[in-house]
Amino acid sequence: MANRRVVVLPGDDEAPQTVYAALEVIRALGAAVEFVEFPPGEQWIRGETDKAARAAIDTSDSTLFGSTSGKTTSINYLRWGKQTFANVRPCRYMPGFKSPLARPDGIDYVIVRENLEDLYLGLEGPLEALAPLHLQSRILRAELDTSERGIFAIKVITEKKSRQIARFACELARKRKAQGYPGKVTCTSKYNMLRQSDGFFRQIVEETAAGYPDITYEQFIVDDFARRIVQSAHSLDVVVMPNLYGDILSDAAAGTIGGLGLAPSGCYGDGYAYFESVHGTAPDIKGMGVINPTATMLSAVMMLEYLGFVEESRRFEQAIRKVYGDGRTLTVDQGGTARTAEFTRAVIANL
Ligand code: ATP
Repeated sequence: MANRRVVVLPGDDEAPQTVYAALEVIRALGAAVEFVEFPPGEQWIRGETDKAARAAIDTSDSTLFGSTSGKTTSINYLRWGKQTFANVRPCRYMPGFKSPLARPDGIDYVIVRENLEDLYLGLEGPLEALAPLHLQSRILRAELDTSERGIFAIKVITEKKSRQIARFACELARKRKAQGYPGKVTCTSKYNMLRQSDGFFRQIVEETAAGYPDITYEQFIVDDFARRIVQSAHSLDVVVMPNLYGDILSDAAAGTIGGLGLAPSGCYGDGYAYFESVHGTAPDIKGMGVINPTATMLSAVMMLEYLGFVEESRRFEQAIRKVYGDGRTLTVDQGGTARTAEFTRAVIANL
């Protein structure tokens, strides 16, 4: 296969260590990937590096991204510039993960989070700015009191983006069904309370799922769903939800299988995808050399698959699985004593 070009944005704080660990394994696999590497966000000359990174992204096949605390500014370009509308966050238990659940074996579902709208458009401001609108509250049956000192935030749910994410979820469920999964899409939002916004999202997903007769559809209110990811995660297959719930619940989902160090993610658009862990930059363990690189490694596994290196992605995942199955070289968050570098060497040894 021809060389694929991948932009590497290592991110901030301790995140770069996870990215470098993943790169070591990809290099050891011998995948024909050409990396275009940028420095950690702390070293970015604001504006300059961002511009260069955007140009590199435009001529690449994908980006491997370390988490950012805001210093690596190109994240917004990867998301909104490249319109990567589907944030795919698998929640899959592997034997050896330090799950707090009694029976985590077999947990294997995917959260599909809408990635571009909802409350994430940065539309916030002083309450008084809403005064000219004379907004009527359905709950209060009165006009919104804008004389209080306060802030508003705007939640936007469009038909286009909801349908796009619903289709993505249904297609994913269909693909998984062909691999032996149940072929089910679960939609969740706060549709009983936010009848117009979350209700609209729910309605569009249900309508879209009706066009997939081979896929089972179900829906739960998001608070009930939060309980289900703890008590009945085994019944889930593909779950689709608006942006904010997806952000919060995927951290909770990661917690059920053993923590943030284990949860990968990929953000897919029509012509581009980038990959990063679910976790943040772990500033509290910066420079300690103990961060668990598994989440970023599993994100790299997803990236290799996306790029067409299916065999390499399987070998990578199997090697991670073996390290956990063996249990001798686990990082501190998983109850072990291994440092990031030792864990990485163990994965490479198992390729
Ligand atoms: P963000 O808001 O970007 O998600 P955050 O600081 O809220 O960032 P994280 O950076 O994800 O959250 O960290 C939450 C906790 O989990 C921290 O104590 C951190 O050290 C720990 N943590 C996160 N990722 C890892 C990892 N890969 N390995 C070990 N510990 C981790």
